[in-house]
Amino acid sequence: MRRVMHFMRLILIAVIPSLISVPMTSAHESTAHVHGRATLEVAIEGGSVQISLDSPLDSLVGFERAPRNEKERQLVREMSRKLRQSDHTFIFTPQSQCRLESVQLESAVIEPGLLAADSDSNVGKDLDRSSTNSPDVHSELSATWHFQCAVPESLQGIKVSLFQHFPSLKRIDAAVVGPKGQSRTRLSPKSTLLKW
Ligand SMILES: [Zn+2]
Repeated sequence: MRRVMHFMRLILIAVIPSLISVPMTSAHESTAHVHGRATLEVAIEGGSVQISLDSPLDSLVGFERAPRNEKERQLVREMSRKLRQSDHTFIFTPQSQCRLESVQLESAVIEPGLLAADSDSNVGKDLDRSSTNSPDVHSELSATWHFQCAVPESLQGIKVSLFQHFPSLKRIDAAVVGPKGQSRTRLSPKSTLLKW
């Protein structure tokens, strides 16, 4: 009996802290928000390749709220431009002949027009969603690229050049789901090749 009680106590000790911490986790906590770290998911199905990036905004533009002035709006446009130039961002095995079909960029705190391919300089001018400026508030950017490959059987890897364009990014946890199953790779500025 005593043993059982002891066991129960151990369970409570193990369970209670996790119960307490539940309300403290924010909505998008399935992957931890750590500045300098992003996650990348690559899904390959036949000739179609979808790449999804989730990154703290801080690592891409240096702030995590709506841009407040022209200089910050320019930083957002610059980020958008870099992410849309996918031939600089993802380099596929050349023989696979992969071509970009579409790019989608999304962030909860940035006006969609400012992330659009043809963002003009007036977009977002009168917007200020930045009234909440608590350092505890974090925001991310989600980017999704769709590629179509003419010779998918030649595709052996992707070189990810995000670190070069976004020096604040130090680590990317990448997951690949493809014809050879699932694999995980940790990318860094010194290790940018995703192979499977
Ligand atoms: Zn943050």
